Amino acid sequence: MMQEFDYVVVGAGSAGCALAWRLASSEPGCSVALLEAGSPARNPLLHVPLGFAFLLKPHKNNWGYQTAPEPHLNQRRVDLPRGKVLGGCSAINGMVYVRGQAQDFDAWAAAGNPGWAYADVLPYFTRSEDHEGGANAFHGTGGPLWVGNVRNEFPICEDFIKAAQQAGHPFNSDINAASQAGVGYFPHNIRRGKRLSAASAFLAPGVAPANLRVIPHALARRVLVSNGRATGVECLLNNKPATLLANHAVVLCGGAINSPQLLERSGIGQADRLRALGIPVVQDLPGVGENLHDHWNAYIKFGVSNSKTYFSESKPLPMLNNLVRYLVRKEGFLANPAALVAVFYQALDDADRPDAQIHFAPAASNFDARGNMVPMAGITVASCGLRPTSRGHTHITSADAASAPHIQVNYLQTDYDQRVAVEAFRKARDILRMPAMGHHGGSELEPGHAVQGFGEILDYIRATGDPVHHLAGSCRMGNDDNAVVDAALRVRGISGLRVADASIMPAIVSGNTHAACVMIGEKCADLLLKEKH
Ligand SMILES: Cc1cc2nc3c(=O)[nH]c(=O)nc-3n(C[C@H](O)[C@H](O)[C@H](O)COP(=O)(O)OP(=O)(O)OC[C@H]3O[C@@H](n4cnc5c(N)ncnc54)[C@H](O)[C@@H]3O)c2cc1C
Repeated sequence: MMQEFDYVVVGAGSAGCALAWRLASSEPGCSVALLEAGSPARNPLLHVPLGFAFLLKPHKNNWGYQTAPEPHLNQRRVDLPRGKVLGGCSAINGMVYVRGQAQDFDAWAAAGNPGWAYADVLPYFTRSEDHEGGANAFHGTGGPLWVGNVRNEFPICEDFIKAAQQAGHPFNSDINAASQAGVGYFPHNIRRGKRLSAASAFLAPGVAPANLRVIPHALARRVLVSNGRATGVECLLNNKPATLLANHAVVLCGGAINSPQLLERSGIGQADRLRALGIPVVQDLPGVGENLHDHWNAYIKFGVSNSKTYFSESKPLPMLNNLVRYLVRKEGFLANPAALVAVFYQALDDADRPDAQIHFAPAASNFDARGNMVPMAGITVASCGLRPTSRGHTHITSADAASAPHIQVNYLQTDYDQRVAVEAFRKARDILRMPAMGHHGGSELEPGHAVQGFGEILDYIRATGDPVHHLAGSCRMGNDDNAVVDAALRVRGISGLRVADASIMPAIVSGNTHAACVMIGEKCADLLLKEKH
């Protein structure tokens, strides 16, 4: 089967949905195909916000990747959930909406990427936004991407905010405005109690234009390149071979693990590696799959037996009430994002801007021997460094599109990342010691007060931490020999081929990554439209 479109976009995740929607709506005369390996989002857990906790294990809508043994985490293999469904990771993520810091984007521009400074990208954040607080210099209204505020029903969140202020963190009513620093509620992508993934925002009936063809169950196997130009994509459509030709451009939006895989399977990557797998080399690009990085969470679990938490709300009677409230009015804790309160702060005293983040939730859990989640009467303070310097890689291990890639993130590889992790953890612990938390009568369950020294805390973080799931950087944008795409997101050496997703970030943003991926999709649409006219 063969079909022809002006643009073929591979991957309906955060960036791909925004890009395909913007392209098709800006140019009604063009045809856009949006290919997605996964299915439409039929599982109800994909729509109930708190369902996210049940979507982290491998399943039909999760690629279910795993790292190789991580050398700086006692050789642990770490699970890396990735959405395989319309919406991509935004269909299984924690739904908090954080853009990062202005300096992140200024640094991208300074590293040889003109057009990516904060002043350049801010309009791409705001133009698809529908901000609950209204439009201002930092926010937009009227776009498909609803950004709402937490309706907090847990007094312990207010106390945690007060405690953070007592520990010296100023209250910040909008962490996506002039300054990210301080403590405040997370903005989120939950509309009327339901998850607003990139697919529910940009591909919804009445939003997606008729010239945008969304094609689920379409696994792209390789990009077709002829005389140095990408001409289309070879894929499996409902398990049958198909070719989609692109008159103008192919854009890969497969995410930080899958976009480099697709390049490599298309013969674009490290020449020796490709030859060894029997893949004809189309373009030798040594940076493909390199520079992979992520944020790493450290947890403090604090027991609070008499306070209102998700644990108390999950007992049979309150749970019945919560279910009824959710079903009738889409309210209650089932409609909450993964974390309610954020703190952005300096872990290292000599940092010139926040280098650490806390995700706070009035919930705690553990896992039993079979890996099932066991709720605990407590709260969780998760801290992570924001600008890791550890770098890993991901590469295919076979030409077969069905085989899993090798992934080595090298979490906590550098001294800097280890120091930030430990100091971020200590400052998170300080908040819990403040008077505002006193009347909850709680105590630290994990790691417990015996764990105090730098080495002990680091050992605990290595043994029990988790990824924050913000994988980025594996098709790095830049102007040097190891860059994969240039500042216009064009794959170096191949015309008509771009990458637009978390993989192009030269360095991860200081915060959660969905908002920046939507921005990258928006910007890529503009770059394509400008090139055409
Ligand atoms: C568990 C979890 C929690 C998270 N929590 C948050 C949060 O609360 N806030 C936040 O901002 N960020 C969060 N993130 C991160 C954020 O969601 C991702 O960084 C972001 O969605 C990545 O967007 P993307 O466009 O790069 O790729 P993705 O959203 O991953 O999209 C890639 C898409 O391409 C498809 N695809 C891949 N290969 C192929 C192929 N060969 N053929 C066809 N289709 C293909 C995939 O199936 C997928 O749908 C979380 C991520 C996870 C996994």
